[in-house]
Amino acid sequence: MLRLAIQSKGRLNEESTALLREIGIDVDDSRRKFLAQAANFPLELLYMRDDDIPQVVSNGTASLGIVGLNEVAERGFEVQVVEKLGFGACRISLAVPKTVDYDGPQWFNGKRIATSYPNILRKWLQEQGIEAEIEVITGSVEIAPAADIADAIFDIVSSGGTLVSNGLREVEKIFWSEAVLISSGKLSDEEQKVLDEMLFRFESAKVSRHKKYILMNLPQASVEEATRILPAMRSPTVMPLAAEGWCSMHSVVDEADLWEKIQQLKAIGAEGILVLNIDKIIP
Ligand code: ATP
Ligand code: MG
Repeated sequence: MLRLAIQSKGRLNEESTALLREIGIDVDDSRRKFLAQAANFPLELLYMRDDDIPQVVSNGTASLGIVGLNEVAERGFEVQVVEKLGFGACRISLAVPKTVDYDGPQWFNGKRIATSYPNILRKWLQEQGIEAEIEVITGSVEIAPAADIADAIFDIVSSGGTLVSNGLREVEKIFWSEAVLISSGKLSDEEQKVLDEMLFRFESAKVSRHKKYILMNLPQASVEEATRILPAMRSPTVMPLAAEGWCSMHSVVDEADLWEKIQQLKAIGAEGILVLNIDKIIP
């Protein structure tokens, strides 16, 4: 049985379980449970604090984990990053009170910096040749300068709103993170097979995301041009219509290009354009 550690509550919990559901794994969401078995897949879920996930994966208590890259880097346990999952994006940055006249990294020499990420910070300070004092705080780091616990902070930023509302200014972006799938690297053949199946499904989910199925009626004479506009996976499907000189064309487009493509298709005579959501694409 393959065991996967995920965050029991917090920012990564919902998207971790949503991702498992997206690849067809039924997850029991009763968060009171510590250990739960997926109903239709040989996967056992271990719910825990994100801080502990790198450790339980590195010591083999769980073979896999979903956690932020920030925790992987901070904890320093030996694990393999198998896949970036595309959610939970954030960065860890240095921020100073907005009244400070900041003139570059050397400003931090001799300063006190509050953070929950002392290891990532220490490494950066060493690389920059800066000597600063690190004050480890586990929560509400952003209040440290106002409380005179520190001169600056090193903390997670996503939109920057928390910094602004605490009178702080982001001055150095140091570490970029997103949720990743990690592995102990010590999977049995049986477990590796299950992981391979999960990775295959992740791939399909990634490909399907932000794609739309598009179909339309098209003058036969415009087929060649429409094929250039809609390359599809191999080539678009073209089917004859009862009305002479017309056909129906089906294809797949990126959501980002959708309106531009529709404009181009209308210009070459496409009518009755339908755009549908795609559940899965198996490349
Ligand atoms: P736990 O109780 O599991 O220890 P936590 O309070 O440490 O939870 P959360 O705030 O739930 O952690 O954040 C979990 C992860 O979400 C972070 O480690 C980071 O990878 C990611 N994340 C993305 N955006 C943000 C953000 N704006 N603030 C904090 N974490 C973020
Ligand atoms: Mg935590």
